[in-house]
Amino acid sequence: MSELLLDGETYDYLWLTDRSHAKAQQILRRYHGCTERPCCQCLRDTRNRQLVIKARGQRYYLARKADTSHHHAEWCLLYEPPETAGPSAKQKPAIQYEGDIVNVKLQTRLMRTSFATMQTDDKPVAEDNPNLPRSKAPSLKPGRASTGLVGFFHALIQKAQLNDWQSQQTERPFAASTRALEKAAQTVTLEKQQPVAERLVITLWEQNLEHSQAINLAALQTRTANPQQAAIVVGEIMACRNSTKVEGSLGLKLKLLNVPLWLPPPLAKKATNSFGQLFDEIGKPDRRILAIAAVFRSKTSFVVSDIGLIRTNRQFIPVDSSYELQVADKLIAEQRRFSKPLKLEGELRYLPDYLLHDCQVPWVMEVFGITNDDQYQAHKLEKLQYYRDHGIQCWQWEPAVDKVIPAFPVKT
Ligand SMILES: [Zn+2]
Repeated sequence: MSELLLDGETYDYLWLTDRSHAKAQQILRRYHGCTERPCCQCLRDTRNRQLVIKARGQRYYLARKADTSHHHAEWCLLYEPPETAGPSAKQKPAIQYEGDIVNVKLQTRLMRTSFATMQTDDKPVAEDNPNLPRSKAPSLKPGRASTGLVGFFHALIQKAQLNDWQSQQTERPFAASTRALEKAAQTVTLEKQQPVAERLVITLWEQNLEHSQAINLAALQTRTANPQQAAIVVGEIMACRNSTKVEGSLGLKLKLLNVPLWLPPPLAKKATNSFGQLFDEIGKPDRRILAIAAVFRSKTSFVVSDIGLIRTNRQFIPVDSSYELQVADKLIAEQRRFSKPLKLEGELRYLPDYLLHDCQVPWVMEVFGITNDDQYQAHKLEKLQYYRDHGIQCWQWEPAVDKVIPAFPVKT
């Protein structure tokens, strides 16, 4: 039995969190917003076991503070082992927010570390002995997680607030959006606090086509002047074609960049496996397929060593599916204020497809596009139950059931 101490009184956790109990709700209402907080009594040590009283509409509930679930006794109802809470419980996150600065640990290597340059004369290589263990046991000390290029791109989009839509907006053109990304990059750093702007090439629109192409190519050349260093190139894919010289190699044509970026066969294969659908959507008029690529210079050509693709609508709002795209476009047409969450925030356990911000309380919006997958169905039900349990308003669309997008909650 988990007991909570609140303002000198002891309450049973299950009783206090029973939302059908008027007396319990009354107590939570009284202490909502107060400095007096319920604190779980399961252990006597000094770790934080305080709970926060939150309100959703007319109802009140309790939430643990971030990263405190393992502070409880294992028998306590509020306990969760660090494992089930995800890698973040043990590891420092790949993307860290420090004031205005976002620091990102990338998986992608931006320095070429060829074998030849590693094997210097003063460091004899002793690993040829087959009896020596090749790799050390994984360190028990938690390190820091790292993110791929797509995760990094999401952090950049978040910083540029391209995932937020204001109701009075009507359009967000290419030039303004890419400028916003470039500006956001000034507050993003990589490992060792290296400003990402030093490595980044965002294909920008300036004055006219010729001038834009010239400045973008110049930026790419400058950032790849050292053949050991990669540039991170961000742009909209206009076309993708097979190389006529190297079988299996792909050439990407980005908007406002008049040199192709080449994906060597192994990477081309990996990328089409991971992002196949998005490659097929290149050139569709109602959306943009954006690329983020680590690019090295090799003689006169530009070679991609790692790549991520994302889909956005015309206004640069990331969309995970064609159904989501329809919802985003309809929200814009109806002049709604909404956002596309790219990371978990607040007390939400699940990442909603959208958040609608112009109603009395924020609504989560979910598009359930997949019908024939049991795991997806189970996850969907779990998500909806979670929203119900926490008094979170949820708008949902199941395209298989409703051909037409249901009306959105009324603006207030
Ligand atoms: Zn506890």
